[in-house]
Amino acid sequence: MEPYGSPRWPDPYVPPPREGLRHSSIAAVLFLLGIIALVCAGAYFSGDLRPALFGAEQDSQVSRPGALPFGQRRDPVPGIEEANAPLGSPPPFTWPSDSYKFLAVKGDGSPLTYSPCRPIHYVVNTDLAPASWQRLLEDAIEEASWASGLQFVYDGTTDETPSSNRAGYQPDRYGDRWAPVLIAWTTPGVVPRLDGQTVGLAGSSSIGLSNGYKAYVTGSVSLDAPQFHGILDSPSGEAIGIAVIMHELGHLLGLDHVSDPEQLMFDEASWVRDYAAGDRAGLARLGTGPCSKDF
Ligand SMILES: [Zn+2]
Repeated sequence: MEPYGSPRWPDPYVPPPREGLRHSSIAAVLFLLGIIALVCAGAYFSGDLRPALFGAEQDSQVSRPGALPFGQRRDPVPGIEEANAPLGSPPPFTWPSDSYKFLAVKGDGSPLTYSPCRPIHYVVNTDLAPASWQRLLEDAIEEASWASGLQFVYDGTTDETPSSNRAGYQPDRYGDRWAPVLIAWTTPGVVPRLDGQTVGLAGSSSIGLSNGYKAYVTGSVSLDAPQFHGILDSPSGEAIGIAVIMHELGHLLGLDHVSDPEQLMFDEASWVRDYAAGDRAGLARLGTGPCSKDF
């Protein structure tokens, strides 16, 4: 076994562009535009950008969404598919580890998460995907789902392309719900931050309600198709390809990079092909966040 070539994968840290950071106070919802800017970038949710993020939330003290008819709203009716209890749970953990880091932490110290009481829908842009994309993606999602307890639902393919200001609510395309997570094999021409040796980028966008509840509602995973095809052509290529997707799914669910080379969330090329103890501990916490029917 050997690490994949000399290129760093999956995604060396790149500071997010500051332009493009916009926030919108819409009906008690703070929705962050610029999903691609979230990718792989702890700094987006930390450091000097944090005040911009959480400061804006104080402006969102407006009435609940959902009162307006479909077609006039700027966010979906709250509570779609939100069950009364989590849909799944992470497995019992016998190797505790603190070798994980979250992309965003709330005021109480807990991580920003998806609601475990509703499924995470996803669509796939397969225009440039390898022939084996479905199996690779399903394997990676199965691992992320198992480690976190979060449930994923495949909604089919899409012709939507990644965008740095992707809207979280696209009723014309996806109906009256939060847009599903967009997973796309694409190119640096479409996603400039895939330039160089960055194989993948991923991140999620969150809402913040006036009652203090915060959660991710959608996100995106962008994979550099030419580099990904090159990985698949290498020895152990499929295992590496799955590991790349798993790493990006870790970001999607809220994991940041760690400096521990034994974890899949290590930020450079490594031998790791599976979620390790720290990754799993982090994913288990990300899968057990609070539920809410209010968004
Ligand atoms: Zn990464």
